[in-house]
Amino acid sequence: MPEPAQHADVVIVGAGVAGLLAAHRLTRAGVPTLVLEAGPCVGGRMSTEKVDGFRLDRIGRLLCTSYPELRRNPGLDALVLRSFSPGVLVHSDGRRHRAGELPAPRRAKGALTTARALASAPRVPRPRTARSPRPTAPLGSPLDQARLARALARLAATPVPRLLARPELPASDALIGRGLPARTLDGFVRPLLSALLCDPDLTSSSRCADLALHAYARGRLCVPEGGADALPELLAAGLPPGTVRTGVRVSAISANSVATEEHGELRCRSTLLATGARAAAGLLPGLRVPGFHPVTVVHHAVPEPPLADPALLLDADRLGPVAYTAVISQVDPTRAPAGRALVSSTVLGPPPPERELRAQLAALYGTSTSDWETLAVHHDPEAVPAMPAPHDLHRPVRLLDGLYVCGDHRGTSTLQGALHSGRRAAHAILADLGVQLAPTAGRLPAAA
Ligand SMILES: Cc1cc2nc3c(=O)[nH]c(=O)nc-3n(C[C@H](O)[C@H](O)[C@H](O)COP(=O)(O)OP(=O)(O)OC[C@H]3O[C@@H](n4cnc5c(N)ncnc54)[C@H](O)[C@@H]3O)c2cc1C
Repeated sequence: MPEPAQHADVVIVGAGVAGLLAAHRLTRAGVPTLVLEAGPCVGGRMSTEKVDGFRLDRIGRLLCTSYPELRRNPGLDALVLRSFSPGVLVHSDGRRHRAGELPAPRRAKGALTTARALASAPRVPRPRTARSPRPTAPLGSPLDQARLARALARLAATPVPRLLARPELPASDALIGRGLPARTLDGFVRPLLSALLCDPDLTSSSRCADLALHAYARGRLCVPEGGADALPELLAAGLPPGTVRTGVRVSAISANSVATEEHGELRCRSTLLATGARAAAGLLPGLRVPGFHPVTVVHHAVPEPPLADPALLLDADRLGPVAYTAVISQVDPTRAPAGRALVSSTVLGPPPPERELRAQLAALYGTSTSDWETLAVHHDPEAVPAMPAPHDLHRPVRLLDGLYVCGDHRGTSTLQGALHSGRRAAHAILADLGVQLAPTAGRLPAAA
């Protein structure tokens, strides 16, 4: 932090995507705002490490082009999304099967960003070899697959309020009553949902599961071009110069002041706590600390792409610790230097023994992994706040007049949830400050 802080009406603690989105909304409304970030850079959990020309995300990479917040915030207009190929590849009974593809017209109705994502998708031909055969018995008969496609299309067309009106159960229990054959459930729906929710046992609320599947069915799985940090960096770049100060740790917070370890007390009219759940409860002890799902992401540099298809590959057989994997440089070529490929794999738990990991990846990709180079193992024991039933999708962001909180722990534990909470918090602050909103800015989309 080079200079003492300028005058700010609102001080935001934490420059993750939730805090940055709130800062964007506030500064656009003309409210002087300061964002204080303890780390050396913006982005929080959405950060990207650069190693020898590779771009290595700390997080798993399952964003959906249909996330409403990706297209409802002007600060994200320039975000380029790279889409995975339609549906997913599921490894089951020793083979890979494509599943969960939706009819083209439904996909085309996705977010505005979808069009850009599709236009900028890498021109990797979809292999028509044994690598991605038509769905066969292990995932259910062709009739089962047709039923699944119909169920997804129906889900995509169901309005969010109707989804939220369904009885709330643990996701794993709710799935049983949905009329899908066991093979489709175990071979596709469970592995996909586990990946989307970072929840291997599907203990999450069925409402969160429905929202995750709804987002999947309405768009395409995607990643930000260049790395997860492209998104927070874009938000930060759209703020007035000097708004974000990194390397400043806040040690205490009240409605009209924050104390920093480095620069003493800063006074303001309102404060917004935008840290992760545990740090938030450390600063405001009344806040609840949820359980968490631990996640480990492992990045390997490989000489040749082991799969040409820019697909997400799920392991329905649970051969080992990896829940899903992708040749991420086939999805987004900017993530690997020329002549190399990058495989990123996600484990929903602690870092596994290297030997187990490589053996499973060899089986999934059908190739030896002995010449794969481990570039990084990123483990976060508190990657994703758990969302067991009953789960409050709209946890209050206004604690009292002048004191607010946002982050993925206030709604759904996803990028969409974090952005949405930041937007809700900014609206609450503007309302309390008496700042008039443009008529369109006053509408909030449903959480997803
Ligand atoms: C491994 C992993 C996999 C994931 N997979 C997915 C996925 O597939 N799809 C998906 O949608 N989401 C996924 N997520 C979740 C997603 O990354 C988060 O929901 C989102 O990034 C949370 O943003 P946030 O702004 O709420 O919090 P954070 O990103 O945690 O930001 C909080 C910020 O506050 C700062 N801070 C903390 N304490 C202080 C203090 N005292 N003073 C100043 N600053 C402070 C922190 O340094 C941090 O920068 C994953 C996350 C992880 C870690």
